Amino acid sequence: MNLILFGPPGSGKGTQSARLVGHYGMTHISTGDALRAAIRNKSEIGMRAQAIMERGGLVGDELVTDLLRSIIGEHRDTTDSFLFDGYPRTRQQVMNLDQVIEEFNLSPPAVIQLDVPDETLILRLTGRRLCAHCRAVFNIYFSPARQNGVCDICAGPLMKRVDDNPETTRERLRVYHGQSRPVLEQYQERGLLYTIDATGSADEVFRKINSVIEENY
Ligand SMILES: [Zn+2]
Repeated sequence: MNLILFGPPGSGKGTQSARLVGHYGMTHISTGDALRAAIRNKSEIGMRAQAIMERGGLVGDELVTDLLRSIIGEHRDTTDSFLFDGYPRTRQQVMNLDQVIEEFNLSPPAVIQLDVPDETLILRLTGRRLCAHCRAVFNIYFSPARQNGVCDICAGPLMKRVDDNPETTRERLRVYHGQSRPVLEQYQERGLLYTIDATGSADEVFRKINSVIEENY
């Protein structure tokens, strides 16, 4: 079983990826994280990426595809179940992923899109408050602290992230939708796209993802 998880900032994609990995033992592939790790570990691909970035260039699709190959190759003997997170982002990357999937004889991915209305995402993202001491997370709209600005757990001060304002949040969502639309359309045409209402609790959303997986595998 292979999944591609799509979700805008604030949709709970990180939480759901962690659950999928825990529940199904899927191998989680975030190409962004993997690229940073490759650079840190000075692997062959990491060194190529580093050289490109030092020249001021952008790491291209070819290198990212090689990176995917190396991660899948590393795990393929022990698993046939991968969770792609934050990839593919373009039509070209969809084709590259198709090719890699074929090379490794993996099953076609189901694509799960976590759907949350933008207005809800904006409240989730801009209402977020983080305890400076114990890192507990509150939300002034959905899960407020008992006393405004004070952590329920340790009485530490609650902070707002500077970039969590409505304008930057709207812009992030606009970029996300613009990027994902062509990719999602492509999977929809192939009958591989499942859109899940992700406005409920993390448990509810995970149950919905489970039903999609169980109906299809
Ligand atoms: Zn605290």
